[in-house]
Amino acid sequence: MTYPFSAVVGMDDMRLALLLNAVSPAVGGVLVRGEKGTAKSTTVRALAAVLPPVAVVPGCRFACDPAAPDPACPDGPHEPTAGGPARSARLVELPVGASEDRVVGSLDLERALTEGVKAFEPGLLAAAHRGVLYVDEVNLLHDHLVDLLLDAAAMGTAYVEREGVSVRHAARFLLVGTMNPEEGELRPQLLDRFGLTVEVAAPRDPAQRAEVVRRRFASDADPAGFATTWATEETALADRIADARARLPHVVLSDAALQQVTAVCAAFDVDGLRADLVTARAAIAHAAWCGRDEVTEDDVRVAARLALPHRRRRNPFDAPGLDEDLLDSTLADSRPDDGPDDDGPDDDGPEDDDRGSDGPGDDGGTPPPPSGTPDGPAPEGRDGHDGPESAGEPTTSPRGEGGGSADAAPAPDRAAVAPSDPFRARRLEVPGIGAGASGRRSRARSERGRVVGSTRPAGTVTKLHLTGTVLAAAPHQRARGRTGPGLRIAREDLRQAVLEGREGNLVLFVVDASGSMGSRARMGAVKGAILSLLLDAYQRRDKVGLVTFRGAAAEVALPPTWSVEAAAARLAELPTGGRTPLAAGLIEAQQVLRRERIRDPQRRPLLVVVTDGRATGARGGAALTEARTAAALLAATGTAAVVVDCESGPVRLGLAATLGTALGAQTLRLDELAADSLAATVRGARAA
Ligand SMILES: [Zn+2]
Repeated sequence: MTYPFSAVVGMDDMRLALLLNAVSPAVGGVLVRGEKGTAKSTTVRALAAVLPPVAVVPGCRFACDPAAPDPACPDGPHEPTAGGPARSARLVELPVGASEDRVVGSLDLERALTEGVKAFEPGLLAAAHRGVLYVDEVNLLHDHLVDLLLDAAAMGTAYVEREGVSVRHAARFLLVGTMNPEEGELRPQLLDRFGLTVEVAAPRDPAQRAEVVRRRFASDADPAGFATTWATEETALADRIADARARLPHVVLSDAALQQVTAVCAAFDVDGLRADLVTARAAIAHAAWCGRDEVTEDDVRVAARLALPHRRRRNPFDAPGLDEDLLDSTLADSRPDDGPDDDGPDDDGPEDDDRGSDGPGDDGGTPPPPSGTPDGPAPEGRDGHDGPESAGEPTTSPRGEGGGSADAAPAPDRAAVAPSDPFRARRLEVPGIGAGASGRRSRARSERGRVVGSTRPAGTVTKLHLTGTVLAAAPHQRARGRTGPGLRIAREDLRQAVLEGREGNLVLFVVDASGSMGSRARMGAVKGAILSLLLDAYQRRDKVGLVTFRGAAAEVALPPTWSVEAAAARLAELPTGGRTPLAAGLIEAQQVLRRERIRDPQRRPLLVVVTDGRATGARGGAALTEARTAAALLAATGTAAVVVDCESGPVRLGLAATLGTALGAQTLRLDELAADSLAATVRGARAA
């Protein structure tokens, strides 16, 4: 029993964004951003119940519309018929860890080879056709699945191909994603593909919070009774959606309203024309939702607030949201009646008023854009502007500071030293072959990658190894009575390809922030190096964590997270000075790793210890011995580690290298971390 949509308290923007998409799927989906515990998922799941029912061809697993069946339907062909039985619209959830087969469907290669039958098992995209596809934690979805999803959403079809056997079917759905930005941002390319975005937060008003709790209690105590209480509101909402859908094709977007749309998009400096299209569609949907036949300034305003925040050119570390004052002034300036005093490029003067575009009895006007037609492929990625991954090399520090070499830059006079500019870091790798989630760091047995051999399948064959299969079948041909051409292949001959790709890891930084780390300029260089490794971790889809130690103790500055932004922020504000409790730092790291091994056992950790190795503490020389003991304990757990030696100055003690030996780690100097340092590679190879 889902929670009734009309019983959701607050979340006005989110509910409106979902409803506008329900009215006009052409708006292009919703991305909901917000912290945990804000009932994002409850609200999304509640939507399906108020969507108009869907008529489907009986027995078709691809939800063909009886009036216009998909001519390419794998379950077809179907004869077109008027009407037909209707079922409620579906909400399909795509789990973040889903396999490719689960998403797009799977072709049964065994049956294709042994029986010559093209057997296709539909996936989630087929299930979501003409309904809602919901991805919780969409920011954690693997790149490869994201691409599949975007392709399907853009084309309105899903396409599966395995070893030359292929299937295509219709897949048009309302895409809804939810995410917690604390756990990592979404790739800019994906962000742009969502029609609307909304930010949600728990209500501040105590009375509203009380109402949330009251309704939640009532719903938990008696779900069916609660649903009955809200049945009238739910029916009214469903009727209003159905009415708005019927009205949608008749809503007029006048030239004046269109000019307001384009003026607002220009004012917010958005890329391409996608923003204008989405804003116009959302404005039309909002007019229909409000029972109007013509788009007003209010519709444009609402649409812009939902369609533009994620399309502004911005640094990934900028705050989200939209400057509403700018929105209001742009709307006012682009108003056709009182525009003479402005200097906007779209203002054609007051004579426009006589074109009949704002007359009350206007029945001609601009036809609305066709609904239901998906957009063509997105414009190219906005290279270089947004995510650190969109460019080959990271260019800016998150604080927007730095510039010039770190040692030359004057240090600002405050507790935390700003990092110097990041560089492209070399790949630090966990040795051996893991089995963790896909990424781009260490070698792993995976679902994707290059073929390294064949094996007998444990279950069904997902990736056929053709040579292995033929070789297995060959010795049996005479016994199976083969006389002519064509192999006789039996099920037991089939061989599964063994693939090797790369996995993402947990990169845990253990950073020495003590006074011995040298001058402020030196600390800036150290932070710049860590920032470079953080950006590298982002591109390789690692989780990151940060343990720091200075003064009396170590602390977990950031528990393992997907949010490189959060790590960069903690790093930038990291104060330095005091003694060097190196042993405490290593012990803390070991505890973080132990907890994380329980939470995410497949993910192999890589420890990056950034220090000059000069352990000091209240107990004098014992600190060094303690540090080596802690290092040996960590080494005994088999954790892969790298020590970044930060020692500088004319007299060098080489303590970091000693620590590296105790950890069983490779030791690199700060200047050996850059990917383009040839000397680094050579020395690194020797040290490994
Ligand atoms: Zn069908």
